[in-house]
Parts: sequence; structure tokens; C-alpha cells
Amino acid sequence: MKQWKSYLAGAWNEGQGDPIILHNPATEAPVAELRRATDLGAALRHARTVGGPALRALSPSDRGALLSRLAKLVHDHREELIEIAIDNGGNTRGDAKFDIDGGTAVLAAYGHLAGELGPGPWILEGEAEPIMRGSKIRAQHVLVPRLGVAIHINAFNFPAWGMLGKLAVAWLCGMPVLCKPATSTAALAARIAEILIEEGQLPEGALSLLLGPVGDLLDHVDPQDVIAFTGSADTGAKIRNHPAVVAGSVRVNVEADSLNAVVLGPDVEQGTELFDLAIRDLVTELTQKAGQKCTATRRVLVPQDRLEEVREALLERLQELASKTGDPALKEVRMGPLSTAQQLHDARTGVAALARSAERIMGDPERSEFVGVDRGKGWFLEPILFQATAEAALDPEAAFHRLEVFGPVATLLPYDGTIAAAATIVGAGRGSLVSTVYSDDRGFVAEAVTRLAPFLGRLVLADEKTAQGSMSPGCVFPVVNHGGPGRAGGGGELGGRAGMQLYLQRTTIQGGAGPLARLLGTT
Ligand code: NAP
Repeated sequence: MKQWKSYLAGAWNEGQGDPIILHNPATEAPVAELRRATDLGAALRHARTVGGPALRALSPSDRGALLSRLAKLVHDHREELIEIAIDNGGNTRGDAKFDIDGGTAVLAAYGHLAGELGPGPWILEGEAEPIMRGSKIRAQHVLVPRLGVAIHINAFNFPAWGMLGKLAVAWLCGMPVLCKPATSTAALAARIAEILIEEGQLPEGALSLLLGPVGDLLDHVDPQDVIAFTGSADTGAKIRNHPAVVAGSVRVNVEADSLNAVVLGPDVEQGTELFDLAIRDLVTELTQKAGQKCTATRRVLVPQDRLEEVREALLERLQELASKTGDPALKEVRMGPLSTAQQLHDARTGVAALARSAERIMGDPERSEFVGVDRGKGWFLEPILFQATAEAALDPEAAFHRLEVFGPVATLLPYDGTIAAAATIVGAGRGSLVSTVYSDDRGFVAEAVTRLAPFLGRLVLADEKTAQGSMSPGCVFPVVNHGGPGRAGGGGELGGRAGMQLYLQRTTIQGGAGPLARLLGTT
């Protein structure tokens, strides 16, 4: 069986103790193993003292060139990586491409962005301003790389995109990275790291890989380090409150749970392209990666008088998907399993909790026969749809506003077609990564922006004219903000230059106008 190793302090690290087994979630067969790594303090020191200086010695454009080269390198290994994602991630081929190509797209995009950053070693932010009216003293903000390690702790659902997306931004800023993928699906991240380390000609110390549990890693953090975490709100809170993190005011970015909503405007009629787009997007968001996406749609707001037509159109498409759920290694399969037995258990528990607030109108959480697998084998959940009453939809305590069931599960929420009601319902999720409004009514859309945006990291507007070129809202492009307020973690990643702020220190350089301009090259 394949044994994956950590890569720490510039060497492959076999780890110690009992092996931790990785599985194929469709067959439950063991596929690889890894062992718990130790001496994590030394690993962080090596990254800080060797990787940091090596990366900072490169200009932003050299670092950008590195990212562009790595995007190509990962792409060259795409077929092999897809197989690993199917085998250890339960991904269909389409799911695997979404993850891997998403990662290479972020590398390429940040490689390109390097061209805008100037020669370094600092990046100018805005223009020099007089410190007060009439003064010859100027203040200029500059952004400089932090001197620590970017510690990336990722969730199980996007081992490639999660890793490469974070890594691209940190490296462009000049920070070395210690990547800790989620254990259950670590094979894909481990192979990508192996490719980058063996073939990527990385500056020494730029990348460390920690496989298995996080151990005492956070005991060794330094005030110049940065932690970017993706995962559950509970783990996010543990990281934020870790004594060493608190003591060092270590920067932490948290991407956590999200009860994303879509709002169908009252003007969206069956038979229009916009209606079809909404149904298509809903099916994609419910079933891509078996619904294990932080950006997946969990709450579907439908005007009360359109509920029946939306429900029927959705049920028809979802039933087809349910009949094609099974072993993702098979061509005819359109949706694979959940990633682990624990995820399946948690999802079933969540489905039972949702049933206290809404009626289950499709899907059997106990179904045990799926395409191409032995009965009872694999961690499968077929698509499950709930429907609430309009009254329950407005109840902020309802389970569908409280609980993220991380699988192919969503709830239809009828509303009265006003943005006021929609804002109450969306806001009951206490902060989300993304929402979509489907409407051609300009007034409705303008009001939606004002009233929904405070709850969201991203608001997608879909209309009839652009329906054909529209992308499903769960697709996170490198230029868009990925993060959300409140329960979504309060973080922000990507978003072009905005995502770089996490890894850079903003310092105001204050001095005489002439010398400052000469020093910073702004004359
Ligand atoms: P999780 O259990 O919180 O694990 C996330 C990561 O944290 C894993 O790498 C895990 O390692 C690690 N971890 C566990 N305990 C830790 C600790 N005490 N200190 C530091 N790290 C620790 O979450 P998950 O079950 O993998 O992911 C599912 C959740 O992630 C969902 O709620 C989903 O909404 C959220 N998610 C959010 C986004 C987003 O961008 N907002 C994206 C994807 C997923 P081990 O695997 O070794 O335990």
C-alpha cells in the first residue's frame, strides 16, 4: 500500500506510531497510509529561516513566474491526480477536475497578478498623503512580506484547490508555507506536494507538508506567522483561542460553515432561460462533490406562488441524479459518496435534525444500494430535499438556518416575494459565503444588493440576458472574495490583490515628501 510522507525541515519524514489508513469512500477499501509527524517546532523554524529568505530574495515578478510554471507542472500531472481524487476522495471525474483545475487556475491567476506589483521589496498601497493640510511630511502605506510561516490547515473536500489556492497567494507575497491537508483525503494533496517538491525547483524551505493530525504545531507559532484555516466552525474557534495564537496575536483567517441561500425573484417564470439556469445551478450545487462544498446552496428561497413548479422541476432532475449515484470510478455515475463514514454519520444526524423544522420531500438517508457497489458498502447519501412552510422559513431558530448538513441536502423555503422577507431569511443564516439572486427586476435586484450584501462574502446576480454564460455560484474564481461574515468565519481569501493582505504587513512610511518619493521610487 502507498505510504505518504510529510515533508518537514527540508526532508521527507516517515512519521511514527501506528499507521493512519486512507480509504476509498465508495468501496471502503484501504488505499494508502501515513504516520503522525513530530518535531513540528523545528519544521516551522526551518521554513522561517530558510524558506522565507529564499522567497523574499525573489522579486514579485520572479515569484509570479514560479507560480505560472507550477500551474503548468500540476496541469501536466492532471490525469494522474484525477485518479487519486476518484480513489481517495470519492470524486467523480468532473468533481476531480473542478478541484484540480481550480487549483491550477489560482496559481496561474496569481502568477499573472505579479505583473502589477512593482519591483519589490515592498508593494505600494495608494499614494503618499500629507499628514495634515499644508505639511511637507507625507505618509505612504507600503506592504511587506511577513517574516514567519503561512500555516495552511485545509478541509477534506478540496485537497487540491484548497492547497494550491492558499499557496499561490502566500508565495506571491513571499511567505513560505506549511500545508496541513485534512487527513481523510490527504492522498491528493500529498501527491501534489511531491510533484512540487521533486519537480518544481522550489526555493529551499518554501514548502513543508504536514500529514496526519496537527499535533503540537500551534504551540510553536510566532507573531510573524499567519494561519489560514478552512474547516468547521468548532475547529476554527479552537485555533483562534489557542494560547500561543492569542499570546502572539497571530493572524488567523477562518473559512468555516456556510448556509448559502439562493433567492428566486418573483418575476422568474417557468419556460425562461433564467428559470432553467436556476434549476441547473441548484442541481449542480446540491450534487457536485456530493454536496460537500462550503459554497453549496443549502436554502432555496422561492416565491410561494411558484413553489410547485420549482419543486417539480428540481425533483425531476434530482431523481435522475439519485439513480446515477454510485462508484465514481464508473463512467455512468454522476454523484459519488461522502468522504468518510463520519461524514455520512454526521449528515444523517443532520438530516434527522432538519426533519424537525421541514418536511423531507425527496431522498432516503438510509438507502443502501448504489450503482456499481456492493449493497451496504460505501459512504453514500442520495440527494435529499426538504420543504418548509413560509412561517417556518421566517423562524431564525429553524434547523435549516442553524445547521449545515455537509452533503447533497437542501431546503425549499417559500417566501412572499419581497426583498424584506428574503433578507430576513438570508440573514437568519448568520453570515454566508455566497448567495445568488435570480431576477430581471432592477428594483428588486438593487434592493437585494443593499439588504443582502451585509450577510455575504459574495452576491451573484443572474439575469435572463447573461443566463447562457453564467457560472454556478459555487464556482470560486481567483478574483472573487472567498469568505463571509459571522458563521462563515469572518475571513476573506482570494479576491485578487485583496487576498494578499493576509500575508503582508501594512506599514506607513512617514517622512519628508522629497526623500520619501526618491526612496520609494514614486517621483
Ligand atoms: P474540520 O474537522 O474542522 O477539519 C479541518 C482541518 O482542521 C483538517 O485539516 C483537520 O485535520 C484540522 N484540525 C482538526 N482539529 C484541529 C485542531 N484542533 N487544530 C488545528 N487543526 C485541526 O473540518 P472538516 O470536517 O474537514 O471540513 C468540513 C467543514 O469545513 C464544513 O463545515 C465546511 O463548511 C467547511 N468548509 C469551509 C470552506 C470555506 O471555504 N469556507 C471550504 C471547505 C469546507 P484532520 O483532518 O487531521 O483532523
